[in-house]
Amino acid sequence: MKLRIITIVYWFLLVYIIAALVYWFIVLENQNSQMTELRIEELKKDASAFTQQYDAIQAQHKRKVVQYISEGATFLLLIILGASFVYSAVRKQIRLSHQQQNFMMAVTHELKTPIAITKLNLETLQKRTLEEAQQQKLIANALQETDRLNVLTNNILVTSQLETGTYKLNRQETDLATLVREGVKDFNGRFPKRVIQLNAEENIFVNGEILLLQMLLNNLLDNALKYSPKESVVKVGLIKKKQNALLYVADEGGGIPADEKKKIFQKFYRIGNEATRQTKGTGLGLYLCKKIVKDHHGTFWLSDNKPHGAIFTVQLQAI
Ligand code: ADP
Repeated sequence: MKLRIITIVYWFLLVYIIAALVYWFIVLENQNSQMTELRIEELKKDASAFTQQYDAIQAQHKRKVVQYISEGATFLLLIILGASFVYSAVRKQIRLSHQQQNFMMAVTHELKTPIAITKLNLETLQKRTLEEAQQQKLIANALQETDRLNVLTNNILVTSQLETGTYKLNRQETDLATLVREGVKDFNGRFPKRVIQLNAEENIFVNGEILLLQMLLNNLLDNALKYSPKESVVKVGLIKKKQNALLYVADEGGGIPADEKKKIFQKFYRIGNEATRQTKGTGLGLYLCKKIVKDHHGTFWLSDNKPHGAIFTVQLQAI
């Protein structure tokens, strides 16, 4: 609604300004023509210099027309440039504030759910005497939820620190093959019912920050599992190509529509709308991944999996 009002006012003002510009051009041109006519009438038709004076008046008329057109065109260009700048800036701002609202809603929900589940599990353990197996199940469940909380808070903290430049990257020689293997093992433990296939070459080293590279892999794996059916396979690969380490995470989910491919890397952006969305999330994961890869001077891209699904690939310089 707000956006609609702003758009209407904006277009009204823009059309008014351009119409005023055109109106002034017409008025000036009319004045110019009248002046020219008057000056020609004042000429003495029988004078010997008539043709010369007539040509001079006509030339001046033309010069004026060119002057009005070029000044008008410059104004018009400046107005259009300014207007398109304002338009995109306002739209961007409104979209960002809208996404921020969604983010706040998502975060509140994402924080409340694990806290509520953990609290309930702990209360059950405290109040009732349960069998060992049941106790272990409740504890494992509570741990899983605290893991989720940990991931979420880390994502939020690291994103804001990377953005403000307060996060000091501690890059060191990192065994990416081991990092990926352990990351996948951790996910296999957390999601025993899912199939995650790993195909990693050994001895691939990069100059990187372990914590950030782990977050990168975790976010990609988390998404691959979240956005693909439970019975499908997620493939993780690590290969060395020339002097580069290529890490990819491929899933067999619905993939990402062409018009969303750029948007999903924006901060807080999630496909669909809050009311109909089934999955949990904050829209920070891919934004953070992109930032991490950029800070490691690498490249990060998305491609389509065949017959369906998404493949996220990270390319880092190997050492
Ligand atoms: P979140 O998962 O918290 O919503 P992300 O930044 O990780 O945030 O992802 C942004 C959006 O991109 C997601 O909401 C989802 O719609 C889409 N997306 C991300 N990964 C995948 C994937 N592997 N398959 C399909 N869609 C995905």
